[in-house]
Amino acid sequence: MSSADEEVRGNMRGLWFLAALVVAVFSKETFEGHQVFRITAKDEVEIRLLKDLSEQKDLGLDFWREPVGVSLPVDVRVPFPSLQALRAFLGYHEIHYEIMIQDLQDVLDEEQEMTRARVFQPRSTDEYDYEHYHTLSEINTFMDMLVQENPKLVSKIVIGQSYEGRPLNVLKFSTGGTKRPGIWIDTGIHAREWITPASGTWFAKKIVTDYGRDPALTAILDKMDIFLELVTNPDGYEYTHTSNRMWRKTRRINSGSSCFGVDPNRNWGTGYGGAGSSSNPCSETYRGPSVYSESEVKSIVDFTKSHGNLKAFLTIHSYSQMLLYPYGDTSTPCVDEAELDELALKATSNLESLYGTKYTYGSTFDTIYQASGVTTDWAYDQGVKYSYTFELRDNGRYGFVLPADQIIPTAQETWLALMAIMEHAMNNPY
Ligand SMILES: [Zn+2]
Repeated sequence: MSSADEEVRGNMRGLWFLAALVVAVFSKETFEGHQVFRITAKDEVEIRLLKDLSEQKDLGLDFWREPVGVSLPVDVRVPFPSLQALRAFLGYHEIHYEIMIQDLQDVLDEEQEMTRARVFQPRSTDEYDYEHYHTLSEINTFMDMLVQENPKLVSKIVIGQSYEGRPLNVLKFSTGGTKRPGIWIDTGIHAREWITPASGTWFAKKIVTDYGRDPALTAILDKMDIFLELVTNPDGYEYTHTSNRMWRKTRRINSGSSCFGVDPNRNWGTGYGGAGSSSNPCSETYRGPSVYSESEVKSIVDFTKSHGNLKAFLTIHSYSQMLLYPYGDTSTPCVDEAELDELALKATSNLESLYGTKYTYGSTFDTIYQASGVTTDWAYDQGVKYSYTFELRDNGRYGFVLPADQIIPTAQETWLALMAIMEHAMNNPY
Protein backbone atom coordinates (compact mmCIF):
# COMPACT_ATOMS: atom_id res chain seq x y z
CA MET A 1 0.00 0.00 0.00
CA SER A 2 1.42 3.40 -0.97
CA SER A 3 1.89 6.07 1.64
CA ALA A 4 -0.71 8.16 -0.19
CA ASP A 5 -3.20 5.30 0.26
CA GLU A 6 -2.29 5.12 3.90
CA GLU A 7 -2.80 8.81 4.26
CA VAL A 8 -6.25 8.52 2.69
CA ARG A 9 -7.06 5.66 5.02
CA GLY A 10 -5.81 7.67 7.96
CA ASN A 11 -7.97 10.60 6.95
CA MET A 12 -10.92 8.30 6.47
CA ARG A 13 -10.41 6.92 9.93
CA GLY A 14 -10.23 10.46 11.28
CA LEU A 15 -13.50 11.27 9.55
CA TRP A 16 -15.14 8.17 10.93
CA PHE A 17 -13.98 9.07 14.36
CA LEU A 18 -15.35 12.56 13.96
CA ALA A 19 -18.65 11.23 12.64
CA ALA A 20 -18.93 8.86 15.59
CA LEU A 21 -18.21 11.70 17.95
CA VAL A 22 -20.84 13.92 16.35
CA VAL A 23 -23.37 11.12 16.62
CA ALA A 24 -22.44 10.53 20.24
CA VAL A 25 -22.68 14.18 21.17
CA PHE A 26 -25.62 15.47 19.19
CA SER A 27 -28.01 12.73 18.33
CA LYS A 28 -30.52 10.84 20.28
CA GLU A 29 -29.70 7.25 21.00
CA THR A 30 -32.00 4.94 19.07
CA PHE A 31 -33.21 1.53 20.11
CA GLU A 32 -34.06 -0.03 16.77
CA GLY A 33 -34.36 -3.77 17.06
CA HIS A 34 -33.90 -3.74 20.81
CA GLN A 35 -36.19 -6.21 22.47
CA VAL A 36 -37.33 -6.51 26.06
CA PHE A 37 -37.24 -10.09 27.28
CA ARG A 38 -39.12 -11.41 30.25
CA ILE A 39 -37.10 -14.27 31.70
CA THR A 40 -38.67 -16.60 34.24
CA ALA A 41 -36.15 -18.59 36.21
CA LYS A 42 -37.46 -21.81 37.74
CA ASP A 43 -34.81 -22.35 40.42
CA GLU A 44 -31.79 -20.86 42.16
CA VAL A 45 -29.41 -22.38 39.61
CA GLU A 46 -31.06 -20.38 36.85
CA ILE A 47 -31.08 -17.25 39.02
CA ARG A 48 -27.33 -17.70 39.51
CA LEU A 49 -26.82 -17.98 35.75
CA LEU A 50 -28.85 -14.80 35.18
CA LYS A 51 -26.87 -12.98 37.87
CA ASP A 52 -23.65 -13.94 36.14
CA LEU A 53 -25.17 -12.70 32.89
CA SER A 54 -26.00 -9.36 34.47
CA GLU A 55 -22.35 -8.94 35.45
CA GLN A 56 -21.28 -9.31 31.81
CA LYS A 57 -21.14 -5.78 30.50
CA ASP A 58 -20.06 -6.60 26.93
CA LEU A 59 -23.53 -7.65 25.80
CA GLY A 60 -24.92 -4.23 26.72
CA LEU A 61 -27.88 -5.78 28.51
CA ASP A 62 -30.05 -3.35 30.46
CA PHE A 63 -31.81 -5.08 33.33
CA TRP A 64 -35.15 -3.35 33.91
CA ARG A 65 -35.74 -5.85 36.67
CA GLU A 66 -32.72 -7.58 38.15
CA PRO A 67 -32.50 -11.33 38.75
CA VAL A 68 -33.30 -11.80 42.42
CA GLY A 69 -35.38 -14.86 43.02
CA VAL A 70 -37.83 -17.20 41.36
CA SER A 71 -40.81 -15.18 42.57
CA LEU A 72 -40.17 -12.21 40.30
CA PRO A 73 -39.49 -12.44 36.56
CA VAL A 74 -36.44 -10.71 35.13
CA ASP A 75 -37.00 -8.02 32.50
CA VAL A 76 -34.07 -7.10 30.31
CA ARG A 77 -33.57 -4.83 27.32
CA VAL A 78 -31.43 -6.57 24.73
CA PRO A 79 -29.63 -4.55 22.05
CA PHE A 80 -30.10 -5.92 18.54
CA PRO A 81 -26.51 -7.21 18.15
CA SER A 82 -26.84 -9.24 21.37
CA LEU A 83 -30.18 -10.90 20.58
CA GLN A 84 -28.73 -14.03 19.08
CA ALA A 85 -26.18 -14.52 21.85
CA LEU A 86 -28.81 -14.16 24.56
CA ARG A 87 -31.26 -16.48 22.82
CA ALA A 88 -28.50 -19.05 22.48
CA PHE A 89 -27.55 -18.68 26.14
CA LEU A 90 -31.13 -19.07 27.36
CA GLY A 91 -31.78 -21.94 24.96
CA TYR A 92 -28.65 -23.78 26.01
CA HIS A 93 -29.59 -23.54 29.69
CA GLU A 94 -33.27 -24.18 28.94
CA ILE A 95 -34.35 -21.02 30.71
CA HIS A 96 -37.87 -19.90 29.89
CA TYR A 97 -38.41 -16.45 28.37
CA GLU A 98 -40.86 -14.45 26.34
CA ILE A 99 -40.63 -11.23 24.39
CA MET A 100 -42.43 -8.34 26.10
CA ILE A 101 -41.44 -5.64 23.60
CA GLN A 102 -40.69 -6.65 20.01
CA ASP A 103 -38.98 -3.43 18.98
CA LEU A 104 -38.41 -0.81 21.62
CA GLN A 105 -37.92 1.95 19.07
CA ASP A 106 -41.48 1.42 17.78
CA VAL A 107 -42.81 2.02 21.28
CA LEU A 108 -40.58 5.07 21.71
CA ASP A 109 -41.71 6.46 18.35
CA GLU A 110 -45.30 6.15 19.51
CA GLU A 111 -44.40 7.85 22.77
CA GLN A 112 -42.76 10.70 20.85
CA GLU A 113 -45.81 11.05 18.67
CA MET A 114 -48.01 11.27 21.77
CA THR A 115 -45.67 13.73 23.47
CA ARG A 116 -45.74 15.95 20.39
CA ALA A 117 -49.53 16.08 20.69
CA ARG A 118 -49.40 17.80 24.06
CA VAL A 119 -50.70 21.30 24.70
CA PHE A 120 -47.81 23.71 24.29
CA GLN A 121 -47.37 26.75 26.46
CA PRO A 122 -50.45 26.49 28.66
CA ARG A 123 -51.32 29.85 30.22
CA SER A 124 -52.44 28.34 33.49
CA THR A 125 -52.28 25.07 35.40
CA ASP A 126 -55.89 24.49 34.31
CA GLU A 127 -54.69 24.41 30.72
CA TYR A 128 -51.67 22.25 31.53
CA ASP A 129 -51.86 18.94 29.72
CA TYR A 130 -51.76 16.30 32.45
CA GLU A 131 -52.45 13.54 29.93
CA HIS A 132 -49.04 13.82 28.28
CA TYR A 133 -45.40 13.60 29.25
CA HIS A 134 -43.51 16.87 29.52
CA THR A 135 -39.99 18.23 29.33
CA LEU A 136 -38.10 19.61 32.32
CA SER A 137 -38.68 23.19 31.27
CA GLU A 138 -42.42 22.58 30.88
CA ILE A 139 -42.59 21.11 34.37
CA ASN A 140 -40.62 24.07 35.72
CA THR A 141 -43.10 26.42 34.08
CA PHE A 142 -45.93 24.42 35.61
CA MET A 143 -44.44 24.87 39.07
CA ASP A 144 -44.06 28.61 38.62
CA MET A 145 -47.67 28.95 37.40
CA LEU A 146 -48.95 26.90 40.34
CA VAL A 147 -47.12 29.12 42.82
CA GLN A 148 -48.34 32.27 41.08
CA GLU A 149 -51.96 31.08 41.07
CA ASN A 150 -51.92 29.94 44.72
CA PRO A 151 -49.55 32.25 46.57
CA LYS A 152 -51.16 31.60 49.95
CA LEU A 153 -50.86 27.85 49.66
CA VAL A 154 -47.85 27.03 47.50
CA SER A 155 -44.28 28.23 47.42
CA LYS A 156 -41.19 27.00 45.66
CA ILE A 157 -38.01 26.38 47.55
CA VAL A 158 -34.66 25.54 46.03
CA ILE A 159 -32.89 22.97 48.17
CA GLY A 160 -29.70 22.77 46.12
CA GLN A 161 -28.22 22.36 42.67
CA SER A 162 -27.85 19.31 40.48
CA TYR A 163 -24.44 18.12 39.27
CA GLU A 164 -24.88 20.13 36.06
CA GLY A 165 -26.06 23.18 37.98
CA ARG A 166 -29.84 22.97 37.67
CA PRO A 167 -31.93 24.14 40.63
CA LEU A 168 -33.45 21.40 42.77
CA ASN A 169 -36.98 22.75 43.16
CA VAL A 170 -39.39 21.65 45.84
CA LEU A 171 -43.02 22.71 46.04
CA LYS A 172 -44.11 23.51 49.57
CA PHE A 173 -47.82 23.30 50.34
CA SER A 174 -48.54 25.04 53.61
CA THR A 175 -51.46 26.84 55.22
CA GLY A 176 -49.28 28.60 57.74
CA GLY A 177 -47.90 27.93 61.17
CA THR A 178 -44.30 27.45 62.09
CA LYS A 179 -42.44 24.19 62.34
CA ARG A 180 -45.43 22.11 61.41
CA PRO A 181 -44.80 18.43 60.89
CA GLY A 182 -44.05 17.69 57.25
CA ILE A 183 -44.67 15.08 54.60
CA TRP A 184 -42.02 14.54 51.94
CA ILE A 185 -42.85 13.22 48.48
CA ASP A 186 -40.33 12.90 45.65
CA THR A 187 -40.81 11.78 42.07
CA GLY A 188 -38.37 11.37 39.20
CA ILE A 189 -35.27 10.35 41.13
CA HIS A 190 -34.67 7.76 38.41
CA ALA A 191 -34.65 9.62 35.14
CA ARG A 192 -36.42 7.17 32.84
CA GLU A 193 -39.35 6.55 35.17
CA TRP A 194 -41.40 9.22 33.39
CA ILE A 195 -44.71 8.18 34.92
CA THR A 196 -43.53 9.45 38.32
CA PRO A 197 -42.99 13.18 37.64
CA ALA A 198 -46.09 13.06 35.43
CA SER A 199 -48.08 11.71 38.38
CA GLY A 200 -46.37 14.16 40.74
CA THR A 201 -47.51 17.07 38.59
CA TRP A 202 -51.07 15.78 38.81
CA PHE A 203 -50.71 15.44 42.63
CA ALA A 204 -49.61 19.07 42.87
CA LYS A 205 -52.69 20.25 41.01
CA LYS A 206 -54.87 17.88 43.03
CA ILE A 207 -53.64 19.38 46.30
CA VAL A 208 -54.52 22.96 45.35
CA THR A 209 -57.86 21.82 43.90
CA ASP A 210 -58.88 19.75 46.94
CA TYR A 211 -57.77 22.09 49.67
CA GLY A 212 -60.88 23.66 51.17
CA ARG A 213 -63.10 21.18 49.29
CA ASP A 214 -62.03 17.72 50.33
CA PRO A 215 -62.30 17.43 54.14
CA ALA A 216 -59.57 14.80 54.43
CA LEU A 217 -56.92 16.75 52.53
CA THR A 218 -58.00 19.99 54.18
CA ALA A 219 -57.51 18.43 57.61
CA ILE A 220 -54.05 17.24 56.64
CA LEU A 221 -52.96 20.63 55.32
CA ASP A 222 -54.35 22.41 58.36
CA LYS A 223 -51.93 20.43 60.50
CA MET A 224 -49.03 19.50 58.26
CA ASP A 225 -46.98 20.82 55.35
CA ILE A 226 -46.42 18.79 52.19
CA PHE A 227 -43.11 19.00 50.34
CA LEU A 228 -43.07 17.70 46.78
CA GLU A 229 -39.92 17.43 44.66
CA LEU A 230 -41.20 16.74 41.16
CA VAL A 231 -37.97 16.26 39.23
CA THR A 232 -35.51 14.96 41.77
CA ASN A 233 -32.88 14.13 39.13
CA PRO A 234 -33.22 17.00 36.64
CA ASP A 235 -29.96 16.32 34.74
CA GLY A 236 -31.01 12.73 34.14
CA TYR A 237 -34.56 13.70 33.22
CA GLU A 238 -33.39 16.27 30.69
CA TYR A 239 -31.02 13.67 29.26
CA THR A 240 -33.89 11.21 28.73
CA HIS A 241 -35.56 13.85 26.55
CA THR A 242 -32.51 14.99 24.58
CA SER A 243 -30.24 11.97 24.29
CA ASN A 244 -31.17 8.65 25.81
CA ARG A 245 -34.70 7.74 26.84
CA MET A 246 -33.39 4.79 28.85
CA TRP A 247 -31.14 6.83 31.17
CA ARG A 248 -31.60 6.06 34.89
CA LYS A 249 -28.75 7.59 36.91
CA THR A 250 -27.44 11.07 37.59
CA ARG A 251 -25.08 12.63 35.02
CA ARG A 252 -21.88 12.80 37.09
CA ILE A 253 -18.61 12.33 35.23
CA ASN A 254 -16.89 9.39 36.91
CA SER A 255 -13.15 9.91 37.11
CA GLY A 256 -11.20 7.06 35.56
CA SER A 257 -14.24 5.71 33.72
CA SER A 258 -15.99 6.46 30.45
CA CYS A 259 -19.35 5.70 32.07
CA PHE A 260 -21.47 8.48 33.49
CA GLY A 261 -23.72 8.73 36.48
CA VAL A 262 -24.50 7.35 39.90
CA ASP A 263 -27.63 5.53 41.00
CA PRO A 264 -29.19 8.08 43.34
CA ASN A 265 -31.08 5.28 45.06
CA ARG A 266 -27.88 3.54 46.20
CA ASN A 267 -26.11 6.66 47.43
CA TRP A 268 -27.74 7.10 50.86
CA GLY A 269 -26.14 6.52 54.24
CA THR A 270 -27.93 3.50 55.64
CA GLY A 271 -26.23 0.34 54.43
CA TYR A 272 -24.15 2.30 51.92
CA GLY A 273 -21.77 0.07 49.99
CA GLY A 274 -23.48 -3.19 50.87
CA ALA A 275 -24.82 -5.96 48.67
CA GLY A 276 -27.35 -4.90 46.07
CA SER A 277 -25.28 -1.94 44.94
CA SER A 278 -22.29 -1.81 42.64
CA SER A 279 -18.81 -0.29 42.82
CA ASN A 280 -18.62 -0.30 39.02
CA PRO A 281 -19.34 3.15 37.49
CA CYS A 282 -20.76 1.41 34.42
CA SER A 283 -23.41 -0.38 36.46
CA GLU A 284 -26.98 0.93 36.64
CA THR A 285 -26.76 0.49 40.41
CA TYR A 286 -23.41 2.25 40.86
CA ARG A 287 -23.41 3.59 44.40
CA GLY A 288 -21.05 6.50 43.66
CA PRO A 289 -17.56 7.38 44.87
CA SER A 290 -18.75 8.07 48.41
CA VAL A 291 -21.90 8.26 50.51
CA TYR A 292 -24.09 11.29 49.59
CA SER A 293 -21.71 12.07 46.71
CA GLU A 294 -24.68 13.14 44.59
CA SER A 295 -25.88 16.65 45.29
CA GLU A 296 -29.36 15.47 44.26
CA VAL A 297 -29.21 13.17 47.31
CA LYS A 298 -27.22 15.40 49.65
CA SER A 299 -29.67 18.27 49.17
CA ILE A 300 -32.54 16.10 50.43
CA VAL A 301 -30.40 14.89 53.34
CA ASP A 302 -29.65 18.48 54.34
CA PHE A 303 -33.26 19.54 53.89
CA THR A 304 -34.60 16.65 55.96
CA LYS A 305 -32.15 17.31 58.78
CA SER A 306 -32.73 21.04 58.87
CA HIS A 307 -36.51 20.52 58.78
CA GLY A 308 -36.23 18.03 61.61
CA ASN A 309 -39.92 17.17 61.77
CA LEU A 310 -40.84 15.07 58.74
CA LYS A 311 -43.41 12.40 59.60
CA ALA A 312 -43.70 10.59 56.27
CA PHE A 313 -41.16 10.11 53.50
CA LEU A 314 -42.60 8.85 50.22
CA THR A 315 -40.27 8.26 47.30
CA ILE A 316 -41.90 7.33 44.03
CA HIS A 317 -40.46 5.04 41.37
CA SER A 318 -41.69 2.79 38.60
CA TYR A 319 -42.33 0.06 37.69
CA SER A 320 -43.67 -3.16 39.32
CA GLN A 321 -46.76 -2.06 41.30
CA MET A 322 -45.31 -2.35 44.76
CA LEU A 323 -45.35 -0.52 48.05
CA LEU A 324 -42.20 -1.07 50.07
CA TYR A 325 -41.06 -0.20 53.55
CA PRO A 326 -37.65 -0.61 55.25
CA TYR A 327 -35.36 -2.35 55.18
CA GLY A 328 -33.70 -3.04 51.86
CA ASP A 329 -30.20 -3.83 53.02
CA THR A 330 -31.10 -6.44 55.61
CA SER A 331 -33.74 -9.10 56.20
CA THR A 332 -34.04 -7.98 59.83
CA PRO A 333 -37.48 -6.41 60.20
CA CYS A 334 -37.66 -2.77 61.24
CA VAL A 335 -39.20 -2.18 64.66
CA ASP A 336 -42.38 -0.67 63.19
CA GLU A 337 -42.91 -3.45 60.69
CA ALA A 338 -46.35 -4.49 61.97
CA GLU A 339 -47.72 -0.96 61.70
CA LEU A 340 -46.04 -0.23 58.37
CA ASP A 341 -47.36 -3.50 56.98
CA GLU A 342 -50.91 -2.82 58.08
CA LEU A 343 -50.79 0.68 56.64
CA ALA A 344 -49.38 -0.69 53.38
CA LEU A 345 -52.34 -3.05 53.16
CA LYS A 346 -54.75 -0.16 53.63
CA ALA A 347 -52.94 2.06 51.13
CA THR A 348 -52.77 -0.62 48.44
CA SER A 349 -56.39 -1.69 49.01
CA ASN A 350 -57.52 1.89 48.53
CA LEU A 351 -55.37 2.13 45.42
CA GLU A 352 -56.80 -1.06 43.99
CA SER A 353 -60.38 0.03 44.68
CA LEU A 354 -60.29 2.59 41.84
CA TYR A 355 -59.22 0.60 38.77
CA GLY A 356 -58.38 -2.81 40.16
CA THR A 357 -54.62 -2.29 39.92
CA LYS A 358 -52.99 -4.94 42.09
CA TYR A 359 -50.00 -4.07 44.25
CA THR A 360 -47.77 -6.26 46.34
CA TYR A 361 -46.24 -4.83 49.50
CA GLY A 362 -43.68 -5.66 52.13
CA SER A 363 -40.13 -4.80 53.06
CA THR A 364 -37.82 -3.93 50.16
CA PHE A 365 -35.59 -6.86 51.05
CA ASP A 366 -38.40 -9.43 51.02
CA THR A 367 -40.48 -7.98 48.20
CA ILE A 368 -38.00 -6.97 45.52
CA TYR A 369 -34.39 -7.58 46.38
CA GLN A 370 -31.53 -6.71 48.64
CA ALA A 371 -30.66 -3.11 47.92
CA SER A 372 -28.24 -1.05 49.96
CA GLY A 373 -28.04 2.69 50.40
CA VAL A 374 -31.67 3.31 49.40
CA THR A 375 -33.71 6.39 50.27
CA THR A 376 -36.30 4.87 52.59
CA ASP A 377 -33.82 2.98 54.77
CA TRP A 378 -32.01 6.24 55.35
CA ALA A 379 -35.21 8.23 55.98
CA TYR A 380 -36.47 5.62 58.43
CA ASP A 381 -33.20 5.64 60.34
CA GLN A 382 -33.50 9.43 60.53
CA GLY A 383 -36.65 8.85 62.56
CA VAL A 384 -39.23 9.28 59.80
CA LYS A 385 -41.44 6.34 60.66
CA TYR A 386 -43.74 6.31 57.64
CA SER A 387 -41.09 5.80 54.97
CA TYR A 388 -42.26 4.08 51.82
CA THR A 389 -41.06 3.46 48.29
CA PHE A 390 -43.73 3.27 45.61
CA GLU A 391 -43.19 1.38 42.37
CA LEU A 392 -45.99 2.58 40.09
CA ARG A 393 -47.52 0.92 37.00
CA ASP A 394 -47.12 -1.27 35.21
CA ASN A 395 -46.03 -4.86 35.69
CA GLY A 396 -43.73 -4.94 32.72
CA ARG A 397 -45.99 -4.89 29.65
CA TYR A 398 -44.50 -1.47 28.87
CA GLY A 399 -42.17 -1.04 31.82
CA PHE A 400 -40.52 2.37 31.69
CA VAL A 401 -42.38 3.37 28.53
CA LEU A 402 -45.85 3.40 30.02
CA PRO A 403 -48.27 4.91 27.46
CA ALA A 404 -49.38 8.45 28.26
CA ASP A 405 -53.05 7.46 28.40
CA GLN A 406 -52.20 5.72 31.69
CA ILE A 407 -50.83 8.87 33.38
CA ILE A 408 -54.09 10.13 34.88
CA PRO A 409 -55.42 6.74 36.05
CA THR A 410 -52.02 5.99 37.59
CA ALA A 411 -51.92 9.34 39.37
CA GLN A 412 -55.52 9.02 40.56
CA GLU A 413 -55.09 5.57 42.08
CA THR A 414 -51.71 6.43 43.61
CA TRP A 415 -53.22 9.51 45.21
CA LEU A 416 -55.58 7.27 47.20
CA ALA A 417 -52.61 5.41 48.65
CA LEU A 418 -50.78 8.65 49.43
CA MET A 419 -53.88 9.99 51.19
CA ALA A 420 -54.13 6.84 53.31
CA ILE A 421 -50.53 7.25 54.46
CA MET A 422 -50.79 10.99 55.05
CA GLU A 423 -54.01 10.61 57.05
CA HIS A 424 -52.44 7.87 59.14
CA ALA A 425 -49.39 10.06 59.81
CA MET A 426 -51.69 12.89 60.87
CA ASN A 427 -53.79 10.69 63.17
CA ASN A 428 -50.84 8.94 64.76
CA PRO A 429 -48.46 11.61 65.93
CA TYR A 430 -45.16 10.36 67.32
ZN1 LIG B 1 -36.52 3.75 40.30
